This record gives sequence, structure tokens and C-alpha cells, in this order.
Amino acid sequence: MLKLHDLHFKPFISEQEITDVVERMVNDIAGDLKDEMPIFIGILNGSFMFVSDFVKKYPHPCEVTFIKLASYEGLKSTEDIQRLIGLTQDLTGRTVVILEDIIDSGNTLEEVHRIFRNENVKQLIIATLFYKPEAYKKDFKLDYVGLEIPNKFIVGYGLDYNGLGRDLPEVYQLKTTQHMTNIV
Ligand code: 5GP
Repeated sequence: MLKLHDLHFKPFISEQEITDVVERMVNDIAGDLKDEMPIFIGILNGSFMFVSDFVKKYPHPCEVTFIKLASYEGLKSTEDIQRLIGLTQDLTGRTVVILEDIIDSGNTLEEVHRIFRNENVKQLIIATLFYKPEAYKKDFKLDYVGLEIPNKFIVGYGLDYNGLGRDLPEVYQLKTTQHMTNIV
């Protein structure tokens, strides 16, 4: 049992299982993109561990970078407008692979699509380690999914609860059935 602040988490996905899933994703993507020089773009903060493990195993030359989506300050709305931090390269004609830690409602993914629509990329590929199908509200295609998980809050392997838990090599699941919006 893991206790972060006031909440309890139970072991959910082991380090070995994550390693196996990441390896499968690497094999699938490397097989499909063997004739490309992809640029992998991780969405910070949650994807840092996934991206690190993924690119260490990727067998072909590739580029790696990160972006962060940050809310404009001063906005009261809960549906924050996001701005992009960190994208400096010209992506014209490039095969871009977005590496996401988790896709929940799909709001972040919608922002990613909005941002990359104007970048004249050759193809935009979406890969996510974790996916909550019950929570997903959008129609964007997910090209590669590591693991489908129930609509419950998880921490570990890059994902945090109030800043804690990102460093854990395995993933834990919130013990209660509390909805995520109540605790973040
Ligand atoms: P979406 O925009 O798809 O609703 O959610 C994407 C972001 O919400 C993720 O990048 C992550 O930061 C956060 N998120 C969604 N579900 C979870 C979860 O179960 N645990 C944690 N720690 N973060 C989550």
C-alpha cells in the first residue's frame, strides 16, 4: 500500500509489466517507421520516464524532444486555453510521433492536434502508454496504445498525485472510487 498525502494507492502495474509494454510499443513503432527518421515528442511532465525508456530501446536513428502545455495565467475558466512551451524545430515534412503518458478525456490530445495542424508535418502519430477508454470523449485516432486501463486515478512511472509519485518505477491505483476531478 502506498500513501501519498491523504490518499491510499494499491499496486496496479508492475515494473516488469511496464517494461514489456514499452518493448512491445518500441517493436511495433520501429517496425512501422523503419524507413523514416521520426522525431519523438514527449508531453511533459508525465511522459518523461516513458520517453526515456522508449528511446533507449528504439533501434533506429531518431530525434527526441519534449514540449509542455501550460495554461495561460490569469484565466478563471476551468477549460483553460493552453500554450505551448519548448517547440523550436521546424517540423515541415517530418514524421512526428507524440509520446503521451496517459490519455484520459482527450482534451490534451485535442490541444496537441490544434498545435501541430499548423506545422506542415508529413504525418502526426499518436502513441500513449496508458489509455482510459471509458473516459475518452474525442474522436482522434490513437495509433499506438500500450495498456487500456479502467477509469481510475493512477500514480507512478511519471504520473503524480499533487507532485508526488512520479519517481516510482511501478504504477499504483487509487484505492477509493473517488473521481479524478475531486483530487487534482
Ligand atoms: P486528458 O487531457 O486526456 O484528460 O488527460 C491528460 C493528462 O491528465 C495527462 O497527461 C495527465 O497529466 C493527467 N491525467 C489523466 N489521468 C490521470 C491519472 O490517472 N493519473 C495522473 N496522475 N494523471 C492523470
